[in-house]
Amino acid sequence: MNYKSTRNSKNIVTPSQAILQGLATDGGLYVPESFPSFDLNWEILSQYTYQEMAHFILKPFLSDFSDEQLKRCIELAYDNKFDTEVIAPVVDIDVKHYHLELFHGSTIAFKDMALSILPHLMKTSAEINNNYNDILILTATSGDTGKAAMAGFSDVPGTKIIVFYPKGGVSSIQEQQMLTQTGDNTHVVSIVGNFDDAQTEVKNLFNDSVLRDELQSSDSQFSSANSMNIGRLVPQIVYYFYAYAQLVKQGKIDAGSEIDFSVPTGNFGNILAGYYAKRSGLPIGKLLCASNDNKVLYDFFQDGEYNRQRDFILTISPSMDILVSSNLERLVYHAVNEDSERLSDLMEQLDTKGHYTLTDEEQAHFSIFLSDYVTEAQTKEEINIVYRKTGYIMDTHTAVASRAWRNLNQEGLSTNPAVIVSTASPYKFPEAVLVALGVEAETLTDQELLDKLNELSNIPYPPAIEGLLEAERLHDTTIEVSDMREFVRSIAK
Ligand SMILES: *Cc1c(COP(=O)(O)O)cnc(C)c1O
Repeated sequence: MNYKSTRNSKNIVTPSQAILQGLATDGGLYVPESFPSFDLNWEILSQYTYQEMAHFILKPFLSDFSDEQLKRCIELAYDNKFDTEVIAPVVDIDVKHYHLELFHGSTIAFKDMALSILPHLMKTSAEINNNYNDILILTATSGDTGKAAMAGFSDVPGTKIIVFYPKGGVSSIQEQQMLTQTGDNTHVVSIVGNFDDAQTEVKNLFNDSVLRDELQSSDSQFSSANSMNIGRLVPQIVYYFYAYAQLVKQGKIDAGSEIDFSVPTGNFGNILAGYYAKRSGLPIGKLLCASNDNKVLYDFFQDGEYNRQRDFILTISPSMDILVSSNLERLVYHAVNEDSERLSDLMEQLDTKGHYTLTDEEQAHFSIFLSDYVTEAQTKEEINIVYRKTGYIMDTHTAVASRAWRNLNQEGLSTNPAVIVSTASPYKFPEAVLVALGVEAETLTDQELLDKLNELSNIPYPPAIEGLLEAERLHDTTIEVSDMREFVRSIAK
């Protein structure tokens, strides 16, 4: 299977080349040329371990990896960095209502699902292509990608990683996790601006041919750890199949029947992987795109107009505070029947005018998507309601997805058994979660917050939290967006 750029269908590369490049040099994103059709024998699949499922799903998507190479990447990724052998547990919340917990990896957010394997995929891709360049990973983060990517790439030979995050735009635990990151090849700086500012400048740097030539002459090249990289996106398809298999195994659904997934959405990477799972044959009824107050995607699914011209709102679900969702470009590409000229024109409009609108016919492509947005008050209420009813404590992002599902379910729109995609541990956002539970948390120190959460939830401290607050801060740089280019050059040398 090959991948082609959304902005030029003649720009076709192998899976390993797509992973090495991250973004297409024409500014587009790589998408699969076609989708595999899996032989879904659920009797067999329901017995698969996470690692076996990963192998089954990734094989056709990474067709130039040998069986041995792929197995090795999977073994190195999904090991005891995860605090449970099942890697991604499906837990019961209520009748026909489940959570898929994707936060059992080393940084307790769902980004670990893909970022624990990406460094291995990238190294293997370099081997496949006899590419001996040093790889410089540039990443913009709204809080979770940065830590997970640094944890994955820390001290990986032949790589350097630079992470940019919005100063004041991430939780205190997220910031502490990033600033205490070890590894001589890891660099993290905050920028004066929001996530979109960071992401836009990272894209500009990728497409800066002068900078690229400079890197090339010192035998280095850029790549991306954002979900714009297919090596990040494809591993996320695995857990949709795995969740389904677990539900069959637990006797909760009949093999072949439809289920819905509700996904707390920011950059549209997670939910796009769900869409790719559907295109590859997984019986998904509806995909629920859940937004917070930055409801640009909700509006888009209502009337086909994507309009980024609006205020950027800082919320208690910061990893979803995004107005330009990069991966939507991939979905829109499929909606315009893979017409790269039409797609390029729309993206040009987004750049220059700040908005674009799809035709009715193009929008008809989105019938499997439902969408809702959830306010700050509703997010807190949802954490509270579910806790009082079941004792289960969810984080603020997951709560957005949970509430969106509840709303759409009550409207009779999402009626299949539903899986809420649970993207972070509540330990990552203890203050907001405790406030939602009615605790007067504002005056508590970070340690007191964690202890209080521990007491209420009975969830043992994840390894990611142990010792975190005492750890030494190893990074301390804040720069203007206009200085990001120079910063990158100084590290590249
Ligand atoms: C990144 C992230 C999201 C959003 O996922 P996208 O793939 O960017 O849509 C949601 N919740 C958490 C906790 C995240 O870290």
